[in-house]
Amino acid sequence: SRTPFIAGNWKMYKTGPEAVETARILTQLCSNVQEIDVMIAPTFLSLPLVAASLEGSKVKIGAQNLYFEKQGAFTGEVSADMIKAAGAEYVIIGHSERRQYFGETNALVCKKIKAAIEVGLKPILCIGESENQRNKEKTFLTLDKQVSDGLKGFGLDELKDLVVAYEPVWAIGTGKTATVDQVKKVHQYLRSLLEKLFSKDFADQTRIVYGGSVKPENVKELMGIEDVDGALVGGASLDANIFINIINYDI
Ligand code: 13P
Repeated sequence: SRTPFIAGNWKMYKTGPEAVETARILTQLCSNVQEIDVMIAPTFLSLPLVAASLEGSKVKIGAQNLYFEKQGAFTGEVSADMIKAAGAEYVIIGHSERRQYFGETNALVCKKIKAAIEVGLKPILCIGESENQRNKEKTFLTLDKQVSDGLKGFGLDELKDLVVAYEPVWAIGTGKTATVDQVKKVHQYLRSLLEKLFSKDFADQTRIVYGGSVKPENVKELMGIEDVDGALVGGASLDANIFINIINYDI
């Protein structure tokens, strides 16, 4: 069975001290949380500071991006090795903001996933259709391409820690959550796509989480959907006292 995965993507928010303070409050609030994987992804700069402050706690840590080259003259970039050494366990790859503002393609996303796996970072592959793609009934086509191309060439063993995050672009930061019916259909589709591309066992064990305006008010309904194994939370993860009400969706 799949352990629920509730993750906070802090995007470009919080200085180092602010990130450490939020992480500190969150670890206290999470001390009784059981059978859920909780993760936060601060900026690169805050990563080692937050990792140190999370030591011995149940809260896990991830990065928001990486560069696929091992090292070299790539000014401004950060490698998988460096992220791992800073204490991260997970890494978010192919977030729609990376695709939208930084031109990331499915082929680049695939290289980044490879780089993550090579150093033992657990990849969170983000996918999702734009409003335009949904209106043109290209949702499934878009997702199929993002998954097939993003995961091209990998063996089952390499992908054992993969998390897939379905984040419809039109629902990110807009307050517009996808409806239960929309989420249900997509997650079902993704589960069967993983089965088609890999195997039934793999599809059954891989977590598929939803992102896009998740908040304490809607998380229970979303988590009640059969193929939803967790949430990737932006805005509502920035305040530990709000995020904990998402983590405790079942209470
Ligand atoms: P919001 O929760 O702010 O809509 O952001 C979702 C997201 O992009 C998480 O990666």
